[in-house]
Amino acid sequence: MVDLAKSAIWYARHGWTVFPLRPRTKEPFKDLGVYSATTDTDQIMDWWREHPRANIGLHCGGCNLLAIDMDSYKDKFSGGGILTHADEETPTNLTGGGGTHLLYSVEDGQRHGNRIGNLPPGIDIRGWGGYIVLPPSIHPSGIQYRWEFGYGPHEIEVLPLPVRLSQILDEARVGNRVPGPPNTLAVSISRDLVLAVLEAADLETYGEQKYDGTGRKWVLKHCPFNPPDDPHHEDKGAFILIAADGHIAAGCQHERCRHILSDAKMSGWRYLLRQKATRT
Ligand SMILES: [Zn+2]
Repeated sequence: MVDLAKSAIWYARHGWTVFPLRPRTKEPFKDLGVYSATTDTDQIMDWWREHPRANIGLHCGGCNLLAIDMDSYKDKFSGGGILTHADEETPTNLTGGGGTHLLYSVEDGQRHGNRIGNLPPGIDIRGWGGYIVLPPSIHPSGIQYRWEFGYGPHEIEVLPLPVRLSQILDEARVGNRVPGPPNTLAVSISRDLVLAVLEAADLETYGEQKYDGTGRKWVLKHCPFNPPDDPHHEDKGAFILIAADGHIAAGCQHERCRHILSDAKMSGWRYLLRQKATRT
């Protein structure tokens, strides 16, 4: 007999926010949605005392985790250039339905929703407000969820979200804003402004690219959000985007750069504008 309560408590003791799901389903109980998830072991014992066969849900974003949800086994995706083999050295949940969940850690307070942006088909994410079913829950097919051999959270550390994925998801987050209709005039005005700022701030790019239909994108050679004592160069981390409606966004996927922006309490683009103002 599978001891789901014991596993739920083990996860909670390791800081994972869990909640019960209906037995042999991925469905929450009424009034116990993803935001009920907790690390409070008393609460968890109460839940599983009442529902001993409940499956275990993990609210990924609740404990700064992000799950990459793939339709099939992970190796099939390595060739797609999204994940390297090294990126896959992280806890790996084999679902009873033939899918795979890879778990990554994200920065505290970095709320990735469930927007997937330009991820290839067959890949999905579960972040803030998103959940996955954890082993040893039972899939509706009757097959048990299990950790891949050698890849359980008791066997291997959770890796930070790989840079390439983080970049794609950041771009998706730019899209979390409710976009206006495509506007080529707004894009052209924004483009003049971006080019002026690139020049004034002496920022080199890898060239202008198309983005989001009529929009534009520049990947920067040197990150302008960098802490001066810890520069990173030519790793394509920093970017400026113009969405199809003319909205400008800028940022970098590196942790320290994000901290600099969040400490300054401004968006990447505002930060660049201010730099331009102080230079001219
Ligand atoms: Zn940076």
